[in-house]
Amino acid sequence: MMTGVLAITAGCGQKKSDFKYLLDEFADLKVMRYQIPGWDELTLQQKEYAYHLSEAAKWGRDIHWDQNCKWNLPIRHVVENILENYKGDRESKEFQQFTVYAKRLFFANGIHHHYAEDKFFPECSQAYFKSLMVAVGEGDKCAELLDIIYNPDILQQRRSTSTDGDIVVLSAGNFYEGVTRAEVEKYYESIEDKTDETPIAYGLNTKVTKDANGNIVEIPWKIDGMYGPAIAKICEELKLAAACAENDIQKRALGLLVKYYETGDLKVWDEFNIEWVKDTIGTVDFINGFIEDYNDPLGRKGAWEGYVNIKDHKASERSVILSANAQWFEDHSPVDPRFKKKECKGISAKVINAVCLAGDSYPSTPIGINLPNADWIRKMYGSKSVTIANITHAYDYAAQESPTSTLDEFAWDEAEKAFYREWGSWADEIHTDLHECLGHGSGQLLPGVATTAMGEYASALEEARADLFGLYFTADPKMVELGIMPNKDAYKAEYANYIRNGLMVQFTRVELGRPNTEAHMQNRKLIAEWCYEKGAKDNVIEKKVRDGKTYFVVNDYEKLRDLFAQLLAEIQRIKSEGDYEAGKHLIETYAVNIDPTLHKEVKERYEALNLKPYGGFINPDIVPVEKGGKIVDYKVVYNDDYLKQQLDYGKKYGAL
Ligand SMILES: [Zn+2]
Repeated sequence: MMTGVLAITAGCGQKKSDFKYLLDEFADLKVMRYQIPGWDELTLQQKEYAYHLSEAAKWGRDIHWDQNCKWNLPIRHVVENILENYKGDRESKEFQQFTVYAKRLFFANGIHHHYAEDKFFPECSQAYFKSLMVAVGEGDKCAELLDIIYNPDILQQRRSTSTDGDIVVLSAGNFYEGVTRAEVEKYYESIEDKTDETPIAYGLNTKVTKDANGNIVEIPWKIDGMYGPAIAKICEELKLAAACAENDIQKRALGLLVKYYETGDLKVWDEFNIEWVKDTIGTVDFINGFIEDYNDPLGRKGAWEGYVNIKDHKASERSVILSANAQWFEDHSPVDPRFKKKECKGISAKVINAVCLAGDSYPSTPIGINLPNADWIRKMYGSKSVTIANITHAYDYAAQESPTSTLDEFAWDEAEKAFYREWGSWADEIHTDLHECLGHGSGQLLPGVATTAMGEYASALEEARADLFGLYFTADPKMVELGIMPNKDAYKAEYANYIRNGLMVQFTRVELGRPNTEAHMQNRKLIAEWCYEKGAKDNVIEKKVRDGKTYFVVNDYEKLRDLFAQLLAEIQRIKSEGDYEAGKHLIETYAVNIDPTLHKEVKERYEALNLKPYGGFINPDIVPVEKGGKIVDYKVVYNDDYLKQQLDYGKKYGAL
């Protein structure tokens, strides 16, 4: 057990190496890089497997660009040409402005902001942009492309959020063309079998348009269909990967994935997912396909995504230990015994390290993933839930490299900051593990209470319940005993941070004058505000003001833990009994309304920090090492040039 602890502790906490994480900042974006811990421990075969999966991931890049808007690839090709071949003055202000536009374009995989989805514009003039195009021999494209780049009235949003217009017609994304929302909806209505309990994901891998006779048609994304040249390359690499897979499940899964790309048959896609979910023993894993539907205004079309990762065996041990002790936690949870599970199973989530990000996950990438998306597959075969450790760490370390931070601005004194730097990222991870592995699964409803009883307050209350479960047990001596928490005080870093965030810092993400509406943010505000109010008579959390700036300081950690316990007991009661009115009261009293004066202060302090709200990553290269005509190893090479990687990918993986 003790070896386990030491092993688990390594890699967390303060940044120790000279590896530079933060590479570039521009507009509202920052570009970072990540390391791949565990790579050197892989066998040659595992490395080869990961290598081919990564190549397969990178070959899908152009698909995602084209899905985002059909003008993205022509514009990118022109921009690449200018960056590579323009011989004029590169130091001028206008060329710098052009370069920032290029960087934003690459970051967003197109002309629309990756998150806000609005079109963004170059700061250099249209005439200057034109002169660059002419200089590199692209003058004939100016009339068409410059209008698309500069005209604010066309292709305004990638996914339209219009409330009165037709969101299919108004969306710049390339999922539909020449069709209206009503036509698309009628079409799918006519082909969907509503009685099927294992339905395919209708429309996931097609573009919808009309044929010459005006009939609605779907153009499939498959090897001999739309995106064929890119898909052919993906399949080539997937076949090479299958030849060196770790086990037969992976082999079968890859075979099905190739068959799906060849046929476009969504039944085969389901069969692939069922096999993919079964592989919980391999070290190397991947995502490859048309996955998330957030970019489609109608929530059908899958954005192309690639992801290759390796299991972090040591970090995953933590969730194994927690799951193995799930019953102990349930029995010791501070809620009424009537609401406890008699038999309790934890969820074995795994911790992974990214090896390659691609498509919809590059450069901006999630830190946790749960797939597949088909509900019936999740129910019948399960799903894989992962947290991505090296990406989370890279975020933390890059923040430490930045000269300003929210910690410095919003924490009360040097002692609080130093303590957080020592234990914060560590304690935060443990809290997340408890939340995911045990929190959501704990407790039970009384007989006859519907799972939908909490109505529109369900998500926020459920997140609060899982968070409180995690907060309460993060401080439990059992956590040190199990070798998960390094010492009995480390939890205080998470407590102080949680309160600071819940009462203040998180409001940086809410527009002034707007209420707090997102479920996770409501949950944090509810918990922090409730504890602040209930602990006021004992001064558990103290509001202090210095130089006109507000701070919230935790004075009594044990009493704060008691308050967490009380609120957990109450929210569990509300859920178990289906007490809708009490749930509504908690949310509406503590979670929604932000004090306007504090909100304004928080926004101003945050803006002064000049931090970039959105981050993304470049990939390391995986390079085959040859000796005597044979590949003897695959080396990881860490790049530090964002634009160079983008240009290299354009040359190497340009398929469309
Ligand atoms: Zn949750």
